Amino acid sequence: MNGRLKNVSSEVSKIKPTAIIDVDETLWNSSIVMYNTARALGYEFPVPSDWTHWNIFWEYVPKEKMFPVFDAVHSAQNNHPPYLEAEDFLDFMRRNYHVIIASHRDPKYHDELEQWLRENNLQYDEVSTSFDKTELFRRPGVEVVVDDRDETLEIAASNGLLALGLRKPWNRVVEDKIHLFWSLNDIVEYLMSQGVGKNPNRGRLT
Ligand SMILES: [Mg+2]
Repeated sequence: MNGRLKNVSSEVSKIKPTAIIDVDETLWNSSIVMYNTARALGYEFPVPSDWTHWNIFWEYVPKEKMFPVFDAVHSAQNNHPPYLEAEDFLDFMRRNYHVIIASHRDPKYHDELEQWLRENNLQYDEVSTSFDKTELFRRPGVEVVVDDRDETLEIAASNGLLALGLRKPWNRVVEDKIHLFWSLNDIVEYLMSQGVGKNPNRGRLT
């Protein structure tokens, strides 16, 4: 990011609340790629519909062997499209929030992720790749977290943030305390029902 864009980005973050938006299983179907990759490497891996919690991987693949699987999935992402609703979802979010796209992945895939976002016309202000996105939750101005991972959603909620997610087999464990939705369009409808996008003064200094 050049200096001018960085300055514009930081100005935007001052006047809009921030939304932290996940990538895998929020913007594209990564679980089937992960399943196919693990099976191709010879691991007995359950189908995604049987993932009862996100950390189920460690029960089938040793932790040190799982990281190459994650890397293979993120390396292959540019061959896969986003969810159909992702473009409209991010258009809406960026009109109303400073959007940080945040993915748990090796930072060496940062540039490939940005390329995937650009090629698929997905709007954002910042991209963060790390092994602990919850550090972003303490930034001033953060209001919303959109994610699918049970643990991440719980940490967001415990930080007083609005935690929203797509409904997945592995986040059923938090469905009694987290707002879960069938589609990204449903998340937009929910936010609009809360007044997001309807207040002409929202996002402006008054
Ligand atoms: Mg995810």
